[in-house]
Amino acid sequence: MKAEPAAQARLLDLQELDAQLERLDHRLRSLPEIAEAAQLKERVDAIDAELITAQTKASDVERHQRKAESDVDQVRSRADRDTKRLESGQITNAKELQNLQSEIASLGRRQAELEETVLEVMEQAEELNARAARLTEERETAVAKFTEVTARRDTAAAEIQWDRTRLTQDRERVSADIPADLLALYDKLRAQYDGVAAAPLRYGRCNGCKLALSTVELNEIRAAAADEIVRCEDCRRILVRTEESGLHAPVAE
Ligand SMILES: [Zn+2]
Repeated sequence: MKAEPAAQARLLDLQELDAQLERLDHRLRSLPEIAEAAQLKERVDAIDAELITAQTKASDVERHQRKAESDVDQVRSRADRDTKRLESGQITNAKELQNLQSEIASLGRRQAELEETVLEVMEQAEELNARAARLTEERETAVAKFTEVTARRDTAAAEIQWDRTRLTQDRERVSADIPADLLALYDKLRAQYDGVAAAPLRYGRCNGCKLALSTVELNEIRAAAADEIVRCEDCRRILVRTEESGLHAPVAE
């Protein structure tokens, strides 16, 4: 393959732009705000799950409370009815009187027990509602932080995207200076060799694999025409000759 030395030199500009584009893509993928937002999202989801549990429990406890309160009412009205009958003086039978008194006493004990239950249940409901309120507050804080972090993430991403657009335009301009067959080879090698397809030959060393070329290789390159596309024997990348290639110094064989 052949290409004008100027076109070959443009490969190095293209390679630099591609490296910059890759760095931008890496930065975009690894923005700290991405991980931070994901963590906050997890936190909000966890709070939501806890909230549902607390709210379900609170509604169970409230139902329990209403049942206990209605039980208290029933027991109280029955005791009131019994007390009225007792106080009416209509019951004269001693056995019946005794039964009534003992029922009133037993209803009194039952009422006290039920009232105790109502108090306990009210306390539980209060705790659960306080917990739900605390979780709601935590959720609001986490959501506000999430909104703030995603806004920061989007701003940073937009800046990177802006740089990317600019570099892509530069890339198009540089590509236009390179013949299609050389550009195709460059793209193929870039995919094959970890994003680096072209490297300068600097002081007898391939800048792609960093290995020094042998005397034989250097002499071959010296003998090659300037428009000949030269490849590194070791890494197979395109070697671009520059002022600093070290080809002019005499090399003993
Ligand atoms: Zn190499």
